[in-house]
Amino acid sequence: MIGLLHSIETMGLVDGPGTRTIFFLQGCPLRCAYCHNPDTQKKTGGQEVTPQRILEIARRYRSYYGEEGGVTFSGGEPLLQGQFLAACLQLLKQEGYNTCIDTSGFGNAKYYPEILPLVDTLILDVKAFDRKSFADITGIDGFDVYLKFIQNLDLYGFKGQIWVRHVMVPGYTDNAESMQEFIKIIKPISRRVDRIEILPYHTAGVKKYEELGIPYRLEGVEPMDKDRAKELEIYANKLFADSLKQDRREREEKKQAKFKSLKDREVASEAEKSEILKNLRNLPLLSDVADEDAETVLKEVILSNIKAGEYIFKTGDLPEFMYLIYKGQMKIFFNSIDGEEQIFYIYTDGDFVGGLNLLVDEPYRYIGQALTDCKVVAIPRHIFDRYFYNSPVVLRSILVKSFERIRWAEELILRLSTSNASMKTAGLLLKLVKRIGVKTDEGIRLDLSLNREELGNYSGLRRETITRKLGEFRELGYIELVGNRTIIVKDVEALEAYVL
Ligand code: SF4
Repeated sequence: MIGLLHSIETMGLVDGPGTRTIFFLQGCPLRCAYCHNPDTQKKTGGQEVTPQRILEIARRYRSYYGEEGGVTFSGGEPLLQGQFLAACLQLLKQEGYNTCIDTSGFGNAKYYPEILPLVDTLILDVKAFDRKSFADITGIDGFDVYLKFIQNLDLYGFKGQIWVRHVMVPGYTDNAESMQEFIKIIKPISRRVDRIEILPYHTAGVKKYEELGIPYRLEGVEPMDKDRAKELEIYANKLFADSLKQDRREREEKKQAKFKSLKDREVASEAEKSEILKNLRNLPLLSDVADEDAETVLKEVILSNIKAGEYIFKTGDLPEFMYLIYKGQMKIFFNSIDGEEQIFYIYTDGDFVGGLNLLVDEPYRYIGQALTDCKVVAIPRHIFDRYFYNSPVVLRSILVKSFERIRWAEELILRLSTSNASMKTAGLLLKLVKRIGVKTDEGIRLDLSLNREELGNYSGLRRETITRKLGEFRELGYIELVGNRTIIVKDVEALEAYVL
């Protein structure tokens, strides 16, 4: 694999922590008015290098890196050579190098999940704070691309720190209102931001434009006053600290509201409570808790009665609780852009959800709604962190559950994308047999908490289609329909023939 390298700086001190080797990669899709390296913009040219060569150069300077230093990829726009960058980072990480990329967020998103988990520091260049100024400064209508990049950093697996940078040009953003917009725009990534820097615009690169014969768009604009830039940098940092404080306050308020709503629905009968708590102790999830800790754990968990139709969690809920279903059924779903409900899972007695969210500190992505009256055990974060976080049994249970969900999701994708209506219906019935089927003399009984519409949402079919298909299966003798909510599966093999 070959990458195009514009140049190297061997003892860089400002582009990432400590002393660093900086690889400037060739090519950039933006045309910033103030760019002082216009020669890096062209996607062709530069020196051809392999990831192995990059590693060899990094090895040569390793002794200068010390505790903090390492390797930075800048540009141009380093994400533009996504595949090459991913390969370089893999090699560097295998040998334990500290890594950094200096980016504006413009590359091929396909490679982001490979690149971003391997980046320790992301220097994020924030060009402007609204669509129009972004287009004015960068020459392209790319504000939405930039917003999407920062909003999805977690999703791409980025776990490092962020240094945010903004080049301040006189007459553009050198005012207090712009700094307020600046802080608003970085809100989605605020918990990762470690530093906010304002770089005063300078005219050192103007000569290069003359040499390259490119018109300079900021002709006549004076360099940014350094003291004024510093003043506004201090102001921006103060605003940022305030916004963090506000975030913490909001988070605490949300947590308290959730706590109250669970408490309001807490099981009232002491006898029932102690019976449930006794049984909980036998579940694998709690079996690893030491006897002397069990009392504290069971005292702190909240046992709530959730009525059919009520929500247990919603998209965006902060990871403050994990939930274990003691009795009942819950659906996990999301509403697609066109308003359709897509059900992912049906959870029932003994299932739990949210362990992974607590482990990786990620908000809930989907919606959990009770299909039947449920008894749900909410395990607060502080109990999870103290008693579950280091338990191999709990971690194993979460891992197994996550694996089951991946398999489930894969099957769902397969069912939705490749099957016809008969296959989807048969697949759904078999899934339900496995999840909630009860063997009886007449066959396997499915007492459904889902109506026909929800059955359709679960299987990717319209309500009319699933109703028709169930009717056909009944005619063929595969199933029997008892009222609207019970199905008796009489011939599992016949159903399997559709999907296996
Ligand atoms: S993103 Fe950087 S390299 Fe690309 S045009 Fe802007 S300043 Fe120049």
